[in-house]
Amino acid sequence: MDFIRRIPSLFSGLRIRLCVLIILAAVLPCAFLSMSFLSFIRYQMWENDAIRLTAQAQIVTNDLISSGYIRGNHSDTIDTELITLSNSYSGRIMVMDRGLKIIKDTYDMHEGRILIYEPAVRSLSNSTETYYDEKNAYLILTVPIIAYDEPEEVLGVLLITKSTDDIMRSMDYFWSLAVIINLSVAAAAIACGILLSSRIVRPFERIASGISDITKGIKQDRLQVNDYTETRRISENFDAFHEQMKVVDDSRSEFVSNVSHELKTPLTSMKVLADSINAMGDGAPIEMYREFMTDITSEIDHENDIINELLSLVRLDRAKGELSIAPVNMNELLEILLKRLQPIAAMQKVELVLESFRPVTAEVDEIQFSLALMNLIENAIKYNNEGGWVHVSLNSDHRYCYIRVEDNGMGIPEDSLDRIFERFYRADKSHSREIAGTGLGLAITHEAIVLHHGEIRVSSMVGEGTTFDVRLPLKYIKETV
Ligand code: ADP
Repeated sequence: MDFIRRIPSLFSGLRIRLCVLIILAAVLPCAFLSMSFLSFIRYQMWENDAIRLTAQAQIVTNDLISSGYIRGNHSDTIDTELITLSNSYSGRIMVMDRGLKIIKDTYDMHEGRILIYEPAVRSLSNSTETYYDEKNAYLILTVPIIAYDEPEEVLGVLLITKSTDDIMRSMDYFWSLAVIINLSVAAAAIACGILLSSRIVRPFERIASGISDITKGIKQDRLQVNDYTETRRISENFDAFHEQMKVVDDSRSEFVSNVSHELKTPLTSMKVLADSINAMGDGAPIEMYREFMTDITSEIDHENDIINELLSLVRLDRAKGELSIAPVNMNELLEILLKRLQPIAAMQKVELVLESFRPVTAEVDEIQFSLALMNLIENAIKYNNEGGWVHVSLNSDHRYCYIRVEDNGMGIPEDSLDRIFERFYRADKSHSREIAGTGLGLAITHEAIVLHHGEIRVSSMVGEGTTFDVRLPLKYIKETV
């Protein structure tokens, strides 16, 4: 029972399927050919018998006419001829007149009787009939006995029955031969099937064991199973995937080490400040205490900023595929964001201007997308100079919405432009020290825009300013591009 239940799973393997296919491909045509050949031979032997018998029957009918036997003249010579002939092929001959009355039966059984037998009736109309009785192994021939004087007249019918035992014996021999040949072919096909299927499947097994070794960490190198185009493609794709996983793994480790470092820096500063206060003892002036406490508070704020931005990043990672997409009026959204940032701009003495070219509605996750834009505008204010300006413009065509955040601030050094979207990267170290930041803002912006299948580009000149261009599809594309 258990074995029967396991049969479907047994046939799920490629090797067993190939093996069965190879065996069937050899055995089925061979069996079909043998069967066709055997029936052809049997038919040919029957045909030869029928032709030979018809020729002999012609001689007999001539004798029956010339001797007047068919017209009722008894002849011992003809009787002997008929008996000798019928014995020679283990058969029976019956001579019937035109009323189908049996004149002579070599079995001496039915003489004088009328035999209404369909082929014999047809032969009365001058046709020779052949019938194979396969079940009883008999060949039956009915031949009209015709007088060749004018007009041609059917005088009777000659009915010959011949045993086909000799044909059956020959056929038995051919059958045995066919069985031996078929069994030999089947044995050879099974051997070839096992060998060939193992050989064909081997590269796939090497891929499976290679992947398993790499997964377990036993093997580190590439798969490279290049036996077939298919295995080469599987190997290449797996190797690419493996490389990608390594990169993801490396960047994850780097991220963890960066996070630890960034979180540790404010803590170290706080510890140094607290230790200094302690070392000063009770005699320290109150102003000094206040100054140190202010520094500690700003370090706590910084630590808080890092943690909040890290949480935003984690939320973005989780939101992949689960954004709350809805049509959002982008003009209104930008107005709200600029209003919210206006006090900071005023504090920095930076002019903040919004320019909307047309009403734009885009399908976005409002919270995530606001965060992305907020970071861009906040940076444009933050990395600016007193009396500087920030221009935010909004435009669209039939497919995309375009948002530009432009400032005439400090600018970004050229060699930093490629890296500003990296987590924890801060471009100008001298400014970075003066201007508070975590290096996570643009990473969040970039991730949020990519999640919306949008694009962000940056161009900048140190001392002249920076421009961020965002392009976003108006209709949210569901599939990941
Ligand atoms: P941060 O918290 O340091 O602002 P971001 O990821 O937002 O982190 O920005 C990364 C770096 O890119 C910043 O440290 C800054 O050096 C640079 N940067 C971003 N926006 C601007 C801008 N508008 N002008 C000049 N530099 C910028």
